[in-house]
Amino acid sequence: MASFDLVVPETAEEAIAALQTLAPGEAAPIAGGTNLLFDLEEGRIAPRRIISLRRLPWRTLDWNGGALTIGSTLPLRSLEDDPEVRRRHPGLYEAVRNVGGVALRHRATLGGNLVRSSPASDLTPMLLALDAEVDLVGPQGDRRVPLDRFLQSSRRTDLRPGELVRSVRLPEARPSAFLLQRVRPANDISQVVVAVAFASSERSWRIAVGGVPPRPTLLPEAAASLGSGRPDPAAVRRAGASAASHSALAADRRASEEYRRRVVGHLVERAVAMVSGGEGFPA
Ligand SMILES: Cc1cc2nc3c(=O)[nH]c(=O)nc-3n(C[C@H](O)[C@H](O)[C@H](O)COP(=O)(O)OP(=O)(O)OC[C@H]3O[C@@H](n4cnc5c(N)ncnc54)[C@H](O)[C@@H]3O)c2cc1C
Repeated sequence: MASFDLVVPETAEEAIAALQTLAPGEAAPIAGGTNLLFDLEEGRIAPRRIISLRRLPWRTLDWNGGALTIGSTLPLRSLEDDPEVRRRHPGLYEAVRNVGGVALRHRATLGGNLVRSSPASDLTPMLLALDAEVDLVGPQGDRRVPLDRFLQSSRRTDLRPGELVRSVRLPEARPSAFLLQRVRPANDISQVVVAVAFASSERSWRIAVGGVPPRPTLLPEAAASLGSGRPDPAAVRRAGASAASHSALAADRRASEEYRRRVVGHLVERAVAMVSGGEGFPA
């Protein structure tokens, strides 16, 4: 591994300045390091400077009415341990609980997961279904970007040179469910992830699918077939069939296209039944 300087700023301004003084690629922020250390070891990146985000005041969880803002450097384990997150965002709680093992979740962060932008992320499909927005800070000031725009493809996001992810905002608590399919039940990469949420304020459904290259995808047609409230069994089957036929479901080395289509259809039906049959579903 090539040598590098380690900088540990106390403020966002110092971190941005440390990023900016070098050309893109020559400086890299580190949060939990669970992805970045692999990239360093494998020589995928060779920065001259690493900027630790651990002292920035971003290990936070703030509720404002129904909206939740999650600081980008909060370890996933803290998110999982919060009883309000579990109660108000059951799908997000399940998604977080499925990331690696407990030791990994003590280090790994949401910001790192979003910036890595892995097609196999267990978190991004649920965050898409919850209409997450990403709050960014950078040399040109602050900006807020819908997650759907922020994620582009594997290792590619809308992050601009010198920018950092400060937090992720969820506009409202939503009845939600998260389901996945893996070859092995634990510590394996998901072949398919399905996330479903009901936006109570708009009375509309959101369905997202992940585990499939090049990135997680919202399925608006499948969601629309569920109507604006508790769907009947025929509507649930239509949503499953619509999701299963979506063009995003390609094959890769983890699963064939046919297998993914069958699993997605089945998981969407189950997840919708979990959400609409749950206690938090509005009358
Ligand atoms: C053994 C193992 C198992 C795993 N299992 C899963 C799994 O089941 N599901 C899953 O979804 N993921 C899994 N992962 C992936 C990984 O844990 C997550 O992507 C994690 O959330 C990354 O967070 P981090 O804080 O460690 O990021 P880091 O490694 O610190 O950073 C990752 C990237 O993001 C950048 N970055 C980090 N924070 C910021 C920020 N605030 N602003 C701008 N850029 C930033 C870094 O420069 C780097 O490019 C696994 C990883 C390992 C090693």
